[in-house]
Amino acid sequence: AKAAGRRTFTRYDDAMDVSVRQRATISGALRKVIDRGELHLAYQPRLALQPSRITGVEALLRWTSEEHGEIPPSEFIPLAEESGQILEIGEWVLREACLTLHRWRQHGLANLNIAVNMSVLQLLRGNFPEVVQRILADTGVPASALELELTESVLMANAAQTAGKLQAFREIGVSLAIDDFGTGYSSLAYLKRLPITTIKIDKEFIGDLSRDPDDAAITSTVITMAHSLGLNVVAEGVETQAQLQFLRAQGCDEIQGFWLSRPLDAHACLAFIRQWGPARAG
Ligand code: C2E
Ligand code: CA
Ligand code: CA
Ligand code: CA
Repeated sequence: AKAAGRRTFTRYDDAMDVSVRQRATISGALRKVIDRGELHLAYQPRLALQPSRITGVEALLRWTSEEHGEIPPSEFIPLAEESGQILEIGEWVLREACLTLHRWRQHGLANLNIAVNMSVLQLLRGNFPEVVQRILADTGVPASALELELTESVLMANAAQTAGKLQAFREIGVSLAIDDFGTGYSSLAYLKRLPITTIKIDKEFIGDLSRDPDDAAITSTVITMAHSLGLNVVAEGVETQAQLQFLRAQGCDEIQGFWLSRPLDAHACLAFIRQWGPARAG
């Protein structure tokens, strides 16, 4: 554990002063990632609190570069967005996530759902709803089992365009979540206009729940507000029993975070869900 800790520290330390040249090399390496099979997905389970059951997983992208080692998504996703490669990568993520989910659903986890992060470029791209529909059809995953996550900042920055775009996804039947909620100063009126189904409270608020009364107040207000709008509320970054108890008392619908499980590879995640007591049909 000590060695792993040191390695992680070095990695993030390196990430902090990514020079222009490094960025260029990483972009270059990024060009071939899909062909080389350097991408894979980690899956983090999501737990409903009442009654307690695993509802699904969030797919999180991982890149292990032959040249640069493991590169965190916070570092390479912005580069892939700048270059437009996120379109191809995002499509790979969606297909891979749906293939995994389909396999799991066939192995007795018939009610399991999957959440996939979506970049702004994907959202604004004209034919993305068709791409999603095609991947669902190809992989045999029902639209109702897929949730697309968009960050609040993305939705706010493109407010004029997003509402209409989102509607196209709702018509297909997929769910839509606002990710990192609380960081982008959304107004209630604005939220009401968006055809979303879920709010994910940013882990920044959850992490400080027991120390910072403001974060506790914000969290319970968001839960109440979201429920009054008929939205499902997920708290992300739940790491402690105390945070879980607070969220349960406030009526939060679902939680995600290290308290339940870290993101796992597909094999380990399936084993985890089975052992927990799965989202079986019915
Ligand atoms: P996110 O969507 O907010 O994902 C949650 C992040 O929090 C993940 O980091 C996850 O590993 C981490 N996390 C989960 N539980 C805990 C916890 O209890 N405590 C703490 N401190 N952290 C926790 P990760 O995997 O490094 O991903 C970072 C971000 O990269 C994601 O944030 C998301 O915005 C982006 N990302 C990841 N995969 C994709 C993808 O396929 N497409 C796009 N467009 N973005 C992605
Ligand atoms: Ca997310
Ligand atoms: Ca988030
Ligand atoms: Ca705080």
